[in-house]
Amino acid sequence: MLQPPPAEPGMHEQEIDTPALVLDLDSFEANLDRMASLLEGTGVKLRAHAKTHKSPVIARLQMQRGAVGQCVQKVAEAEVLAWGGIPDILVSNQVVGHRKLARLAALQRISQVAICVDGPEQVDSLEAAAAAAGTRIAVLVEIDCGGSRCGVEAGPPTVALARRIAESPHLIFGGLQSYHGSAQHIRAPEARAAAIAHAVELTRRSVEQLRQQGLDCAIVGGGGTGTFGHELASGVYTEIQAGSYAFMDADYARNAEPPPFRHALFVLSTVMSRAIPGVAVLDAGHKAVAIDSGLPLVAGRPGLRYAGASDEHGKLLVEDGAPPALGEKLRLIPGHCDPTIDRYDWYVGVRGGRVECLWPIASRGAMA
Ligand code: PLP
Ligand code: MN
Repeated sequence: MLQPPPAEPGMHEQEIDTPALVLDLDSFEANLDRMASLLEGTGVKLRAHAKTHKSPVIARLQMQRGAVGQCVQKVAEAEVLAWGGIPDILVSNQVVGHRKLARLAALQRISQVAICVDGPEQVDSLEAAAAAAGTRIAVLVEIDCGGSRCGVEAGPPTVALARRIAESPHLIFGGLQSYHGSAQHIRAPEARAAAIAHAVELTRRSVEQLRQQGLDCAIVGGGGTGTFGHELASGVYTEIQAGSYAFMDADYARNAEPPPFRHALFVLSTVMSRAIPGVAVLDAGHKAVAIDSGLPLVAGRPGLRYAGASDEHGKLLVEDGAPPALGEKLRLIPGHCDPTIDRYDWYVGVRGGRVECLWPIASRGAMA
């Protein structure tokens, strides 16, 4: 059930009902501007990943700053963006199943929605779905560029799959998807650079072999918040797919000192118990903030440590300074932004201590 908004425009931040997802608009806009200026003049475009933000409003703000489109992982996410008026979407993922493919084909009437494959059966079922809907679908070949998750082997198997797409009358060969997921969070910068150097080499060779066969890649996409600088500098990639950069979670901030983007996303939480000395308990446990990439940090309060999360309780240890008061509201920096956002129905946009806007997290829970 959609929850009512936890705030109204004009309210003070301290009046927002908690737990709530607060977007610091100054920092958020600075992050969007920073990415736009890093890409400016490079010829490489941003196709930001909407699996992070789940919002056509944020997609539009990215596109106003030069993003060519959006990535999603699920057909349901593509539907929400298309219905929200986003014209150019890439499902940067495999999709299997007749009903999902029929929805993807139907969506082509309102937006251009491309998709990835890593095997011949997926090509054939996409061709059947596009033919049944009387449409054409752009299809990218996903290669395994080192992450060993999805993706066909680079080189000749990639060329064979691209040819199968090109020879399918209702499909268009759209290029390569080459995203190295596990490299994003490799902590040591040199090891991260080495992983992407390998990915770039595999991608470069595949693009070249495709070109020799007359198969040109309109898109060569990849790169997330942890590595996009390397893909950008490679001369091979045409599109970067970063998502988390807009918000910057605690885990990504551990990748670089100083972090290249600002913390813009917070879970606002209230101290609901002070019964035990040296401890303050918040109303935000792991149902309110994702802990798969580590516990949240308490923003602006170095003496307070979020030390444990149960379903509905967050346990703070007072390590230095005064404890927070009962009823005090604190900003938590989530360890991982994507699944945290997916727990909320609303972004509460805050500027200068006041609520400025409320945006729905429109594709919350869009898993199909
Ligand atoms: N592209 C793809 C295909 C992804 O799966 C992801 C995240 O998992 C991203 C890009 C980048 O996301 P982020 O910048 O949030 O790490
Ligand atoms: Mn993530």
